[in-house]
Amino acid sequence: MSLKVAVIGAGPAGYPAALEAAKLGAEVTVIEKSLAGGVCLHSGCIPSKSLLDAAHRFDAVRGISALCQESAAPAAEKILKALDWPKIQKRQQLVSQKLAAGILALFRQAKIHYIEGTASFKDAHTLHITQKEQSQELTFDAVIIAAGSTAFVPPPFDKINTHIYDNSTIFQIPQLPKRLAIIGAGAIGCEFATLMSSLGIEVHLVEMQPRLLPIMDEAVSRLVAQSLQKRGVVLRLGQTVHDARLEEGHPVLVLDKDELLEADAVLVAIGRQCNLAELHLENIGLEWNRKGIVGVNPRTLQVKEHIYAAGDVTGLALLAHAGSRQGIVAAHNIGGQPMVYHNEWVPNAVYTVPEVAGVGLTRAQAQAQGLEIKAQKAFMLANGRALTMAASEGFVEIISDKNTGRLLGATLAGPNASEIISAFTVALEAGFTAEQLQQVIFPHPTVSEAIGDALAR
Ligand SMILES: Cc1cc2nc3c(=O)[nH]c(=O)nc-3n(C[C@H](O)[C@H](O)[C@H](O)COP(=O)(O)OP(=O)(O)OC[C@H]3O[C@@H](n4cnc5c(N)ncnc54)[C@H](O)[C@@H]3O)c2cc1C
Repeated sequence: MSLKVAVIGAGPAGYPAALEAAKLGAEVTVIEKSLAGGVCLHSGCIPSKSLLDAAHRFDAVRGISALCQESAAPAAEKILKALDWPKIQKRQQLVSQKLAAGILALFRQAKIHYIEGTASFKDAHTLHITQKEQSQELTFDAVIIAAGSTAFVPPPFDKINTHIYDNSTIFQIPQLPKRLAIIGAGAIGCEFATLMSSLGIEVHLVEMQPRLLPIMDEAVSRLVAQSLQKRGVVLRLGQTVHDARLEEGHPVLVLDKDELLEADAVLVAIGRQCNLAELHLENIGLEWNRKGIVGVNPRTLQVKEHIYAAGDVTGLALLAHAGSRQGIVAAHNIGGQPMVYHNEWVPNAVYTVPEVAGVGLTRAQAQAQGLEIKAQKAFMLANGRALTMAASEGFVEIISDKNTGRLLGATLAGPNASEIISAFTVALEAGFTAEQLQQVIFPHPTVSEAIGDALAR
């Protein structure tokens, strides 16, 4: 294609979109107001997994005494007490910086023009870009809006301005608090509850819904709840925060029945809001709300004519890999090489202990759609590899259509669930039946053998 394509945002949706458009022959300009890599690299997926890795290392130290003579206990205790938060933060920042530099190098190789600045629409073919010391206009034939999202911090949390963090600022917390209240038990809340408890912090996890990870399978919610409780996390499910205030320098939250929850820091992880306010979408006749741009075609990612969207701003799935695929699909559709996006096959993973992951339909979702299903389940308790890892909590459940045998979805809980779920994503993309998946040979001993065990039932 010989089009001029503008991409707003260099997060996991914007940068693959730009690279793909350049590969297809477009003259591409990326406009980024902050850092290449977006939330994912700097305050999301990557930093949280780096912190989780550190947390797992401290868990391993805690567990090592079971394999040592008693005389080793003081050494383990000494290591746990020597936890160095700034060092953990530094390691996390270096990973993000390395990956961000990689994106910029890819842009240079692909001859993509990268502008540091804030974009807004002047009209349907012109962007106004505000930079530190100047501003400029950029004309384009097609645009991909990949401006992402930021944490949503509604009242009453906005009443206090110290010791309160969102899922971006928490990474910069100068020192670890003794008591942390986490509001919201979605993926982010549960991951932070896991990692902060491993770092020795007293964690209270407050969730309005009666169960944590409300969009996942119920058995997963139960398992993660039990696991968090075993780690000492205090769960307050079905509870709402009615008020927030500072008392003697620390936050106090007012829960149902005026129960008070005191903490040294509060992490608000209750949702996201799209970065669309400063884009002036009204200048190109687009409507939007907190959850995204109105009217994005979920298959083509087209909003209208030469205007496309990708990533969190589509409101389709607030996940980095979903955004990346959307960006690639949008680039192809702009370039006249049609491609279709399948939101129904986007896998999700939550990096708790054990990890949990899913793709396609859960049992409850399939039943809610009135489908006649077959559910096949195997437990990690019977999986050799999981037992050798002393990590036998978990299961795999596979849902298929009772009449055609076609796979509809899978839920996994157990070691490396975030990796193993890809077996199901491939099978779903390929349109496998449960019987076809059963023909696959899984290496022994691996956690993935549980897939074969479930299908043999
Ligand atoms: C704590 C946390 C953990 C997460 N963990 C995971 C995980 O494990 N796996 C997963 O898949 N997802 C995870 N996510 C979600 C994931 O980070 C997002 O879904 C993903 O970053 C969205 O990508 P995006 O490109 O749409 O937006 P973003 O990553 O938000 O990037 C958008 C970019 O656009 C730029 N921008 C915005 N407006 C303008 C403008 N007007 N002009 C120029 N530039 C602009 C922003 O500066 C930003 O760099 C996590 C999120 C959080 C907060």
